[in-house]
Amino acid sequence: MIRFSILIAVALLLGLSCKQEKPAPVETDFVWSTEDFSDKRIIRYQLPGFDRLNLQQKKLVYYLTQAGLSGRDIMWDMNYRHNLAIRQALENIVRKYEGDKEAEDWKKFMVYVKNIWFSSGIHHHYSTDKFIPEFSQEYFASLCEATQTEVSEELKKVLFDPSVDAKKNNLDPNLDPVLSSAVNFYEPGITDKEVDDFYKSIIDTTDPTPISYGLNSKLVRGAGGKIEERVWKVGGLYGEAISEMVKWLEKAVEVAENEPQREALKILVEYYKTGDLKLWDDYNIAWSQATAGDIDYIHGFVEVYDDPKALKGSYESIVQVNDFDASERMAVVASSAQWFEDNSPIMDEHKKDTVVGISYKVVNVAGESGDASPATPIGVNLPNAEWIREDYGSKSVSLGNITEAYERAAGPGLLQEFSHDEEEMARSKKHSSLADKMMTALHEVIGHASGKLESGVATTAETLGKYASPLEEARADLVALYYIVDPKLVEMGLMESDEVGKAAYDAYIKNGLMLQLRRILPGKNIEQAHMRNRQMVASWVFEKGQADNVISKVEREGKTYFEINDYAKLRELFGQLLREVQRIKSQGDTAAGSALIENYGVKVDPALHQQVLARSEKLNIPPYGGFINPRLVPVTNDAGEITDIKVEYPEDFTGQMLEYSDKYSFLPIGKK
Ligand code: ZN
Repeated sequence: MIRFSILIAVALLLGLSCKQEKPAPVETDFVWSTEDFSDKRIIRYQLPGFDRLNLQQKKLVYYLTQAGLSGRDIMWDMNYRHNLAIRQALENIVRKYEGDKEAEDWKKFMVYVKNIWFSSGIHHHYSTDKFIPEFSQEYFASLCEATQTEVSEELKKVLFDPSVDAKKNNLDPNLDPVLSSAVNFYEPGITDKEVDDFYKSIIDTTDPTPISYGLNSKLVRGAGGKIEERVWKVGGLYGEAISEMVKWLEKAVEVAENEPQREALKILVEYYKTGDLKLWDDYNIAWSQATAGDIDYIHGFVEVYDDPKALKGSYESIVQVNDFDASERMAVVASSAQWFEDNSPIMDEHKKDTVVGISYKVVNVAGESGDASPATPIGVNLPNAEWIREDYGSKSVSLGNITEAYERAAGPGLLQEFSHDEEEMARSKKHSSLADKMMTALHEVIGHASGKLESGVATTAETLGKYASPLEEARADLVALYYIVDPKLVEMGLMESDEVGKAAYDAYIKNGLMLQLRRILPGKNIEQAHMRNRQMVASWVFEKGQADNVISKVEREGKTYFEINDYAKLRELFGQLLREVQRIKSQGDTAAGSALIENYGVKVDPALHQQVLARSEKLNIPPYGGFINPRLVPVTNDAGEITDIKVEYPEDFTGQMLEYSDKYSFLPIGKK
């Protein structure tokens, strides 16, 4: 529930595309995307702001990323019990093979290996289907022979027999989910009922603050066939890797930025040493309250999506550095929150007398591992325990440099295909990166904070029901759209001209009326709240502006384009709609709210939809993105002390995967 991931296609639809306002933070000719294979794109990301950290902070980031990578193999083993042995064999071939690398079979072999690296195992990271080799068993045998790679009969069967462990996580309601899933949280042969019975016998249902039962263990059949837990901890299952993690976390304790952060890290270390889930809760409480400092991290057995029983936590690590630029932008916007409220086009009785901007955190990723790598979320909200969230709060962050890398790696294809003219494209290339960031800041900090209910009106969720969510998003978008062309933003130093706002308008209209239809299956209408909101806003202003030709719909060579003719009038229309949406919310006017959404936000024009699907399909943008991590390299003096940490940006996915296997293989694989 608590994690936002993204498809490449989706990144483009958030109105984000690929261009820049400021010079790229590291290199102007930075290569964002290195290769495509299968249904995947490999992307690089930059780490802006690292040079603004002091040495102690840089060390902290370094130690935390090393702790993260030390657990990498845990995720491989969790995904499937044979993954590490398979990887070892495949990598031996990749390293040693000196035969024909131009042969089609070799290329197919490498795609197979890359798919497995990408998914930390032989099952697709998203569909969880097993990858089926497109080369023959004979060819594989020849590779093994040429490289002296030994592969057992059992493993050959796993690789080449499609029926063996075909699904990592089997959702077929007619099958036993535990027995039929290949994921390695339960020893083969253990059934769904046995898992239920085991946990029923130990869970205390009367405890208002329950531990996360089962989160850090594998269920196995012990002596006499009795079901028992093997706990992931120092000295327990995965102990070799966890000890290595602890070594680095203890170094991190030494360089923590402040006491609350240090305290949380210490509890985390204790938890890894003991496996005590009560300490995991203590840690999460300490961590969610450690909000000061520029560096944060996620480390542990966290999300339970990989487990058919939603009990076992997948290993993951994400190390985060404050996005200083975004924080500054948010702070500047928040400091004028009252000005925005006072000057809003909404009715005076719906304005807040005292408005406080909502804080919204953007961070930059410094390194990821386990469940978060190479495929990554773009935002995270933790901890997961409901009672901790209620009693102690939670942390919610957007991963800024990951989102940016997705946009840049998407390339100019969609922009070229759907832009009306050169001017629009040029503006987008120059300004849309900042436009996207400003839209986010205004939407989150000001948009969701604005407006109040009339007295006697219940909360909007009660009065507006299923329309509450799209209307709330519409209100936040409209506040952002209304202000993004305001001279006030230039005055505040947030942007140099209203061209940024115009780029935001171009993107919003194009996305709301066309691009987002890429996510809708043929014959379907729009369900998702954000998408309903965006189409409602865009099609409302399109219709209301027709008399004045504010936006024209252009048909050229069988293709549709939307061209904004009058940006000032368009702003007025956004203002009118904002006033109306706020009135609906403030008065709880359900009839008007449902009419707005149903008439403008739900139905899809089938012909235009079909056209959008056809035009975008031709661009061949792979749906999944995975990331090459930066490499943090300590610089030491003669005494061996670290004097600086350098950031390098590796360019080769294969190289990084082999390097990680070299440096961070801590789990025994039998004949290692
Ligand atoms: Zn929102």
